[in-house]
Amino acid sequence: MNKSGNPTSLIMIFGATGDLAKRKLFPSLYRLFEKGSLTDQFAVVGVARRPLTNEEFQTSVKDSVLTALGKDANIDEFVSHFYYHSHDVTDSSSYVTLKTMAAGLDEKYNIGGNRIFYLAMAPEFFGTIALHLKSDGLTDVKGFKRLVIEKPFGHDLESAKELNEQIRTAFSEEEVYRIDHYLGKEMVRNIEVIRFANAIFEPLWNNRYISNIQITSSETLGVEERGRYYETSGALRDMVQNHMMQMVALLAMEPPIRLTDEEIRSEKVKVLRALRMPEGEQIKDYFVRGQYGKGTVNGEELPGYREEQMVNPESNTETYVAAKLMIDNFRWAGVPIYIRTGKRLTTKSTKIVIQFKDIPMNLYYQTDKELNPNLLVIHIQPDEGITLHLNAKKAGQHLDATEVKLSYANSGINGMNTPEAYEKLLDDCMHGDATNFTHWDEVALSWSFVDNISEVWENTKEESYPNYEAGSKGPKAADELLEKDGFFWWPIMELDVDKC
Ligand code: NAD
Repeated sequence: MNKSGNPTSLIMIFGATGDLAKRKLFPSLYRLFEKGSLTDQFAVVGVARRPLTNEEFQTSVKDSVLTALGKDANIDEFVSHFYYHSHDVTDSSSYVTLKTMAAGLDEKYNIGGNRIFYLAMAPEFFGTIALHLKSDGLTDVKGFKRLVIEKPFGHDLESAKELNEQIRTAFSEEEVYRIDHYLGKEMVRNIEVIRFANAIFEPLWNNRYISNIQITSSETLGVEERGRYYETSGALRDMVQNHMMQMVALLAMEPPIRLTDEEIRSEKVKVLRALRMPEGEQIKDYFVRGQYGKGTVNGEELPGYREEQMVNPESNTETYVAAKLMIDNFRWAGVPIYIRTGKRLTTKSTKIVIQFKDIPMNLYYQTDKELNPNLLVIHIQPDEGITLHLNAKKAGQHLDATEVKLSYANSGINGMNTPEAYEKLLDDCMHGDATNFTHWDEVALSWSFVDNISEVWENTKEESYPNYEAGSKGPKAADELLEKDGFFWWPIMELDVDKC
């Protein structure tokens, strides 16, 4: 910490010429600098293969800040803290030079030996880098040392364990910050507050009052140029194993006794342990997979997944998953949590809908339809807010009820720019707060759940692919998954904050 109470740190970004660094990390660091969270006692070392001078690197940081944020006040002062080291991470000799450079910067900026290693590179390098950081002495520091790791953390439980063992030779579990950028999103962080700071919700947050929960994370984009990666991943590994499971855990966990990372994690882990694991033939009763075919959106013809670059023309990879998750514990027994996520869908949106049970007897009717159940909608992105759907008397009518929506939108209160997820996660990491990062126990449990499904899917060719058109709402089977239980997906577009 420096005198102002902010942590000092030397941040090494491996993969500093990559997309993530440019689009997310540099702009987020700049915003922290502008807010005073990064004081003058910091330095950033960009590491990547390409040969660049410090000046060239600083120019690329400036460009990325301007492109992302459209402003660059004090940018020269900010980028003066950035240095570059051209380095092939598989080459042992290069770490020695990096160590000397880090020691010099530590002294120059009076950093006190605090170090953050941010691995913004392809996951196959994570283990090698961690091993070298230790063997070449870069982790021998007198301050803190922390490792930030991007997703995907492994490809399945086996590879995740192997990677974990490699990084744990150099860092303890408390020093590893596994990024799930959904956990940096304002409204995902808000789930806990909505639940545990409101006396009107927590007593109802169980199987006596909630009939089902629906979590949707839909994208309009296809795989773009990520075909090679996506072919080995699919929607189950890319979205369900991490982001969707994390949202389920936050929604379903018991109130933690304290708001510390250990207590919250321990409650999330219990949820993941209570997930019902469908086996073999049962899987099709709980999980639906889809793959987009070609389609037309706004007059533009879009290719099907199998026509995308670097994709096998007979690919069996899913670009869509819908599932019914059951949490077999006292609080949630009998309440389905439906999740769905996919590419090339009608809208880009992430929302959570909590549907409350119907009242025991319905005395009121809207003129043209039955009374709606109460809904609590948490809007995660792109709009951020909460909407509570209630029933109230229709003005002027005798006993007719109508739906009213109480809405809170972050954009109306805080201005349009809530902090970018990476900005908060970087700030948390500098402060040593691991609450919004994924602990190994959570990673292991969610992989073992997902492995069970992916093993079956990989070994059975889905003959119906492609089974939804680009630009559509997804496969029909996803609707049937809810219809069997007497429910339906709440139409996402009608739930938007601006429609309320
Ligand atoms: P990228 O391909 O754009 O960048 C990779 C970087 O690694 C480049 O700087 C490259 O020079 C460097 N590199 C590659 N091989 C190297 C070597 N042998 N030695 C030294 N440097 C080497 O990748 P990206 O999109 O920035 O993604 C980085 C990581 O972040 C990946 O794990 C990805 O899954 C994850 N991620 C990215 C995003 C995103 O928005 N781009 C989002 C979530 C997660």
